[in-house]
Amino acid sequence: MKINSRAFVSFDEYCPFDCKHCYTYDIERTSYRSMDEIVNSISKQQFDVVYVSQKNDNFAVPERGIQLCQNLFDKYRCNIFAITRNTLSDRDIHKIQDLSIRMRESNKLFVFAVSISAIESASKTENADRVPSPLSRIAFIKQLSDSGIPVIAMIRPVYPDKIIPITELAKIIDLCRGHVSCVVSGGLGVNDNILARLDMTRDAFTYYENYEYLQGAIDCEINFVNVADELNLLRAKCAGVSLPFFEHSMPALNFLYNQAMKIA
Ligand code: SF4
Repeated sequence: MKINSRAFVSFDEYCPFDCKHCYTYDIERTSYRSMDEIVNSISKQQFDVVYVSQKNDNFAVPERGIQLCQNLFDKYRCNIFAITRNTLSDRDIHKIQDLSIRMRESNKLFVFAVSISAIESASKTENADRVPSPLSRIAFIKQLSDSGIPVIAMIRPVYPDKIIPITELAKIIDLCRGHVSCVVSGGLGVNDNILARLDMTRDAFTYYENYEYLQGAIDCEINFVNVADELNLLRAKCAGVSLPFFEHSMPALNFLYNQAMKIA
C-alpha cells in the first residue's frame, strides 16, 4: 500500500446535521480551535493522507471545509480524503476541482466521499430538515465526477434489512454507478445515546463481538450491529455491476491512488 498512515482533522463544533446514528455527539470537545490551530495540530504526526473527518461534517459550511483542505495541502503537500453528507454549489465544486488539479501536479490525490445511508427510509437515520436529500447528494456525486474529482459512494451506516431494506442501498448503487470509483460501506454502531435518538432499544439488534472498526477515528464506546448478511448482499450487488467494494476506506484510497497514478 502506498497510503499506510492517516491523520484526522476536524472542526470542533458539534455537527449541525443532527443524524440519528452519529457518534460524533459523544466525542468530548475540550476546545474550539482556529483554522490554523487545526491545521497545525497534526504537524508532529507522520501520515500519508489527511482525513478531513472526525468530529463534524467539515463541509456543513462548504467554504470553511474547502479552505481547510486548501490550507492542509499548502502546509503538508499531502493526499486528502474528505467526507460529507452535504452538497456544494457549482462555485465550490470549481474550487475543489482547482485544488484537485493542483494536488495532481504534485502526485497527490483529493478524494471526496459522499455519505448516503438510504433513499426512501432516510428519515429513519437522518434529520431530513437539516441534511440534503439522498437524491440531491447523488446529483452532487455526478457533478463531482463530471469535474474529474474521484468520488467514493460511502454507503453507511448499513442497518439490518428489516429497518432499511437492502433494496434501497442497491438503488443507490444503480443511481451512482458510472459516477463513483468505488463503494465503501460499513454497519451501524450504537451506544445508549444513539439508541435513544433512533428510538430503539439495545435488544433490537445483534452485535459483532470484538469488532474493530473506525479505529483511530473515534474515541467513544460503540457496539457494532451485525449486518454481515446485508454487507454480503451489497458486495454481491457491487460485483454484479463491476464496482469495487470495500469495508474500509484505506484500501479504497490505495485503489484510487494506484488507479490515478496509472492514468498520470
Ligand atoms: S453529517 Fe456526519 S458528522 Fe454530521 S451528524 Fe451526520 S453523520 Fe454526524
